Amino acid sequence: MPRGLLTREVDALAARVTAEGLCPLRICWQDGRLCSFELIDADVLSPKRLLLPRLAEPHAHLDKAFTWLEFPNLQGTYRGALVANRKEHQSRTFDQVRQRAERSLKLALKYGLRAIRSHIDSVGPATDSSWEALLDLQRQWQEWIDLQWVALVPIEYWSSQEGQQLAARVADVGGLLGGVLVPPFDPGKTRDSLRQMLQLADRLGCGIDLHIDESQSHPAAGLKQLLLVLDCMSITVPITCGHLSSMGLLSPGAMRRLADRMAHHRLNVVSLPLTNGWLLAKQPRRTPVERPLTPIHQLQLAGVTVAVGGDNVQDPWFPAGNFDPLALMAFSLPLAHLAPWQRLGLAPFTTAAAKVMNLSWDGTLQPGSPASLLLLEAGSWAEALAAPPHRQVIVDGNLLQDLDQ
Ligand SMILES: [Zn+2]
Repeated sequence: MPRGLLTREVDALAARVTAEGLCPLRICWQDGRLCSFELIDADVLSPKRLLLPRLAEPHAHLDKAFTWLEFPNLQGTYRGALVANRKEHQSRTFDQVRQRAERSLKLALKYGLRAIRSHIDSVGPATDSSWEALLDLQRQWQEWIDLQWVALVPIEYWSSQEGQQLAARVADVGGLLGGVLVPPFDPGKTRDSLRQMLQLADRLGCGIDLHIDESQSHPAAGLKQLLLVLDCMSITVPITCGHLSSMGLLSPGAMRRLADRMAHHRLNVVSLPLTNGWLLAKQPRRTPVERPLTPIHQLQLAGVTVAVGGDNVQDPWFPAGNFDPLALMAFSLPLAHLAPWQRLGLAPFTTAAAKVMNLSWDGTLQPGSPASLLLLEAGSWAEALAAPPHRQVIVDGNLLQDLDQ
C-alpha cells in the first residue's frame, strides 16, 4: 500500500518501499475496523496487488449523467453544453433522474467510490422531481455510498424569494448551496449576490460549493470578487471553489497573491481537468496548446486544500467519463502532472477529497480506520494507471460480490 497514506500510528519507518512508495504490509480487521498492521518480508519489487482506501468523488452531476446520446454537444463548446443541458432539463422526469443516478451509483460502487458530492440543476421545471429522485436513492444507498447534494443555480437566484425557499429546503436535507460564477459579469452586482448568498448559507449552516471561473478569459475574475466579499465579512461555513480554471492563466506573482488570500479565507478547491480539457479554449481548426486549468501545485504550496473530481459523465458537458477514480487518476497524470507516488499527487484523490467533503474518515490507514478498501490487481502504480485494473471492493470489512450485475 502507499506509505504516504499510513499515519504515524503505523510503524512503517523500517519498511522497504518500492520506487513508487509502496510498502508491503499485512493488515487485519475486525468488526469493520482495521486493527493491526504488520510489516512483511515480501518481495518488495514485485507486489501482487495494490491496496487503497475506497475513494471519494468531490464533484459530480448525477442528475444529468448519461444524457449525451439524447442531448449531444458535438462541437464540444461551453455554450453548446449550456443549450443542450437546458433542453434536457425541460423534459426530464423523476424516473429518468432516478435511473441515471442509479446507473451512476452502481458503477461508482464497483469502481471503489465511498462518497460522492453531486450538484443538482435547481432552477426550472424539473427541480422538484430531480431532488425527490435523488433523495429517494440516497435513503436506499446510505450503507454503500455517502451522498452529498449541492443546489446548482445562478448565484443571484439566492437573493430571490424562491431562492430563499429553496435554501431552506436544501438546509433541511443537509445539502449545500451552489452557484455559477463565470465572466463576463457586473462586478458590483456580483458582489451583492455573493454577499447575500454567503449570509444565507451562514444563517442556515449550509456549506457552499461554487462553479467559478470555468473560463478561458478574464483570469480569476470571479475569485477576485469572492475574495473582496470575504475580506469584509466573516462566515463559518466551508466554501469550495470548483474549476478555478482561468486562475491558471495568471502571472506567477498574481497567482501567488490570490492563493495566499484563499488560504487565509480557508477556501477549498476542486479541480476538474477532464471537463476543462474538453470544453475550454476551443477554437475551430486550432489545437489549443495553452490550457486553462486550476493551478493545483501552486495552490497546494500556498496551503490550500485541492481535490480532483470527475465532473461530468457522458452528458453535454463531457462525452466520456465513467465514475472510475483510477481512470480519473490516469487522466490527471498527463493533464495536471499529478503523480500518485508523490504525496501531493495522491492527496487530491484521497485525503484532500475527504477534507473538502468534510467526511468523518480522512482516508488514511491506521488502526481504527474503516475496513473500507480497494484491492487492485496491479503490482505498481504504472500498471494500475495503464489500463483500469480489475479490483475488489471491501465495505465495512465485507468483500462485495457480484458487482458486475
Ligand atoms: Zn460541475
